[in-house]
Amino acid sequence: MTQTRTVLFALFTLCWLTACSGDKEPVVHLHGETMGTTYNVKYVVGKEGKINGLQQEIDADLVHINKLMSTYDPESELSRFNQNRFTDPVKLSPETTKVVKEALRLGKLSDGVLDITVGPLVNLWGFGPNKRPEVIPTDSEIADVRDYVGLDKLSLTDQGLQKTHPMLYVDLSTIAKGYGVDQVAGILEKHDIHDYLVEIGGEMRVKGQRGDGTPWLIAIEKPVSSERAVQKILSVGTNAVATSGDYRNYYEEDGVRYSHLIDPRTGKPIQHKLVAVTVVDPSSMTADGMATALIVMGWDAAIKLAEKEDLAVLLIRHHDGEFEEYTSPAFDETVDIRN
Ligand code: ADP
Ligand code: MG
Repeated sequence: MTQTRTVLFALFTLCWLTACSGDKEPVVHLHGETMGTTYNVKYVVGKEGKINGLQQEIDADLVHINKLMSTYDPESELSRFNQNRFTDPVKLSPETTKVVKEALRLGKLSDGVLDITVGPLVNLWGFGPNKRPEVIPTDSEIADVRDYVGLDKLSLTDQGLQKTHPMLYVDLSTIAKGYGVDQVAGILEKHDIHDYLVEIGGEMRVKGQRGDGTPWLIAIEKPVSSERAVQKILSVGTNAVATSGDYRNYYEEDGVRYSHLIDPRTGKPIQHKLVAVTVVDPSSMTADGMATALIVMGWDAAIKLAEKEDLAVLLIRHHDGEFEEYTSPAFDETVDIRN
């Protein structure tokens, strides 16, 4: 979970289209900042009218999540786990435990490609809090850091979370925003709100309708860094949508593009033609993590996993100078493409 706007703001890959006119029921729009990025909540006002104190409740919950899981807050629960150098299990809050558990499940499903211990490599390559490196890391520097990277060095049991290497560092960036979206949706549900859109830094979850009787529409951006244009407009029912791509957050050196996504199997940024992955799932946390897992896996492996696990995914790759798209059977079933 980054606190630097530069990292996450640039990754805003989804936006929403609102009804411009003809709204029959009023829609309330709440927005603010969290996790180094922005959040937006829209909900249709029911019979009870606007809910007082809702934004304060949302803000308090998001602050609480940051206090637990932010790696940019040295005092957070996760930072304290990362800073300690002992290898005994540590009891963590139920919230952090839940997010770690899901990250480990997706890590297993993706053959270790989604790896929440990859942070030291992300920093080595210049995408962490230390910004971009002056020079490309050498193979021996990469090998040194890989000594304390890997899901095999982390275990979660009833006793708590345990690292087997004292330097191990857990980063939940790839999944925490999605968790935040799910928590905010939970707050809305608790207040009997059933028509809403929740978005944090591009992770989105929608339910019901947008006030004029039409479904929420989600725009997927074209995976190019030069402009902001719409690739697809989707209606996803009651679901979350996450997109992961390497077309915003990268740097170029000597003509080579270095992505912020690291392949833990090589210790290096991904270097393939799969440029964007969109995942639709009831859980925003799952969609968030899975989108990252699939993009690191690459086109062929992502298709194979999507079909095996019945995941609703849209993949976009560069192929013969054009964009090629793949949608999985579950995606075709779940999502209505509007353009
Ligand atoms: P976004 O910030 O757009 O949500 P992602 O969810 O795709 O981006 O997560 C990107 C972040 O995840 C990177 O900035 C990095 O901190 C971390 N990361 C990079 N490679 C991996 C990986 N293989 N597994 C888990 N996290 C990763
Ligand atoms: Mg992600």
